[in-house]
Amino acid sequence: MSILIDGKAHAARLREEIGRQVGRLRQHDLITPGLAVILVGEDPASQVYVRNKATQAREAGMSSFEYRLADSVPQIQLLDLIERLNCDPEVHGILVQLPLPPQVDEARVIQAICPAKDIDGFHPINVGNIATGGYGMVPCTPLGCLTLLKFQLGDLSGKRAVVLGRSNIVGKPMASLLLKEHCTVTVAHSRTRQLEEVCRQADILVAAVGRPCLVKEDWIKPGATVIDVGINRIEADGRTRLVGDVDFEGARKVAGALTPVPGGVGPMTIACLLLNTLEATCRQHDIPFPD
Ligand code: NDP
Repeated sequence: MSILIDGKAHAARLREEIGRQVGRLRQHDLITPGLAVILVGEDPASQVYVRNKATQAREAGMSSFEYRLADSVPQIQLLDLIERLNCDPEVHGILVQLPLPPQVDEARVIQAICPAKDIDGFHPINVGNIATGGYGMVPCTPLGCLTLLKFQLGDLSGKRAVVLGRSNIVGKPMASLLLKEHCTVTVAHSRTRQLEEVCRQADILVAAVGRPCLVKEDWIKPGATVIDVGINRIEADGRTRLVGDVDFEGARKVAGALTPVPGGVGPMTIACLLLNTLEATCRQHDIPFPD
């Protein structure tokens, strides 16, 4: 049986440490990190995510500013709000919950956020800096995955990593981060041939495809570390439940270590959002950010 990587426990420890750092900033530097979250529309899943992010920010001692805009909001109104937040010294991090309604150009909105306050790490300047090995705000989900991998495996240098999925928010930045850690990285996607065989090569397998239980037991190299990013809602026995992109019961027979869904990558994503907000605050005030 494989080791279960407890993302919930890791995230709780990380949030505790962030809370301590926030306390120090407030006490010694009289600065309170501020997180602004913008939600457009009434998508129920997005509402839950936004509520969780705001609650956890407050629990860590940060200021949380929430903006809820109607689904029909004109793009210019959203851009105006972002501009105001860019200039607001009490706001250190800005997050626009995706997806956005069709009248709004997502790329335009992301580019409107000041890169120093782009705690999601989606701005092209941050993406480019990460891709070229420099400093940039790292997207929260891949950062959470990397934190769990380093905790589990220590040095990742020389390991064969396969990232399943090539989205801008998970797959591509994950591949950049693993490359930076000196892994040999393969990015697989819907056009990849002999996908199972590609996955079987991996010492580290990160699955981010959004397909329930796609990765089967025999896709996994014995002893591999498997990070399951997927969050899929399925109907079973008349109830809705969450499953990942990995067939958990099968995978735990062969993997060396594995993240569960829920309770794996999900909690780390929010904790890393708080970490990015703390880092953005420190950088905006020229305060060294503790490693
Ligand atoms: P996207 O839909 O943007 O990307 C999915 C990727 O998977 C694409 O690159 C696609 O390939 C590839 N893919 C789809 N089907 C297959 C297949 N059958 N075989 C091989 N590759 C396939 O998804 P995201 O990256 O945004 O999210 C992925 C999953 O992670 C989702 O379940 C999402 O809910 C979850 N997620 C979880 C987070 C967390 O905090 N835990 C945060 C963000 C996402 P192609 O490019 O060729 O179309």
